[in-house]
Amino acid sequence: MLGTDVTHDPARRSFVEAANLARADFPLQNLPFGIFKRPSDEVGRGGVAIGDRILDLARAHEAGLFSGAAEAAAAAAKGPVLNPLMALGNDVASALRARLCNLLDTESRERDKVEPHLVPMSEVSMQMPVAVGNFTDFLTSSFHSERLSPTGKVPPSFKTMPIAYHSRASSVRVGGSTIARPHGQWLDADNIVRFGPTRALDFELEVGAFIGLGNDLSAPIAIENARKHIFGYCLLNDWSARDVQRVESVPLGPFLAKSFSTSISPWIITEAAMRPFRTPGFVRSANDPAPLPYLASQRERENGGFDLKLRASIVTRRMREARQGAERITSTNFKHMYWTFAQMLAHHTSNGCNLMPGDLIGSGTASGPSEESRACLAEITSRGTNPITLPNDETRNWLEDGDEVIFRARAEREGFTPIGFGECRGIIGPAVDWPAATR
Ligand code: MN
Repeated sequence: MLGTDVTHDPARRSFVEAANLARADFPLQNLPFGIFKRPSDEVGRGGVAIGDRILDLARAHEAGLFSGAAEAAAAAAKGPVLNPLMALGNDVASALRARLCNLLDTESRERDKVEPHLVPMSEVSMQMPVAVGNFTDFLTSSFHSERLSPTGKVPPSFKTMPIAYHSRASSVRVGGSTIARPHGQWLDADNIVRFGPTRALDFELEVGAFIGLGNDLSAPIAIENARKHIFGYCLLNDWSARDVQRVESVPLGPFLAKSFSTSISPWIITEAAMRPFRTPGFVRSANDPAPLPYLASQRERENGGFDLKLRASIVTRRMREARQGAERITSTNFKHMYWTFAQMLAHHTSNGCNLMPGDLIGSGTASGPSEESRACLAEITSRGTNPITLPNDETRNWLEDGDEVIFRARAEREGFTPIGFGECRGIIGPAVDWPAATR
């Protein structure tokens, strides 16, 4: 049971023509939420993506286009952040989705009332959709973990629990901005500790999940209820300084190697929009331990994963100047993850820890079994020892200043309309200039 409804009907089309193109990321069946700003706006406004347009939710609300639960949801989605909408729970958000689907349909009887509130995407800048209170990053691909492990095996606890660390919420930004190369401590060729700009800057291709309904302190989320607490999903780039990580991570895990920047895609793809693309949870080998009861669920086994294609591409400064297109360096799929988001939430809250509306959960690097599905440079270049060669003969072990990394995601299933996530972009800028006295 995928729980699909009339909002997933592939026969439906929108009067916004760009939404009906075969390659469209944002057809009528997607309807993701985001925060946008026109040049004249002082603060961000809540909107829903449809084709190449954004429906201004505040204006549509003022025009009286909503009633009942959809009206409450639209009022909470005006902006400048979506936390109030997320806190209402997915049933309320789904009422808004159903109403929006009717309003934007070719059969809409209120088309003339809706059209004045559609804004071209080309005229706006996308803002942080959420005030992120907490950010937890997991490690749930066994393939990523094995490739980066000194022993070639996952750590002892990997198969009994979804492993995670608490990351930094304040430095999460919507993609498109410049990522300043961070400073840190790393070892030089003679194994002497130095301080300076990282020499091993990497990306990690991940999926993020935003918490909708939270849980009270000391009230864990049961795995069977976990999906009700996830508002939706985005692309997430967990930028990583590998040389800094190597020095600082013994014994307490990532700190400054990760906290300098995280990029997310601006549109939140709702839990409802992703329902058609659910796939069975990872099939464990016979030698692996069964999940402990609080992490075990028949529903998660049946459809806890997502069939979601993920891509990472790179454009170097030289490629950009020569007007060369982006080169794809990763093609993976989210169905390869060993643990599901519901298992991550059940584990995260199992000690009584409370999650709040707008908290961000990272999946961990979404690597699969094949070579092309390696989802960070540390895997692709075997920790910087086996560089990749780009079409213009440039080589890369790690990211250089001017390199741009672009993530895309697309979900497809026979009998349903494909949906996309839009893009998550980030371009590497030079390290900040420190005062001479601190060098
Ligand atoms: Mn990560």
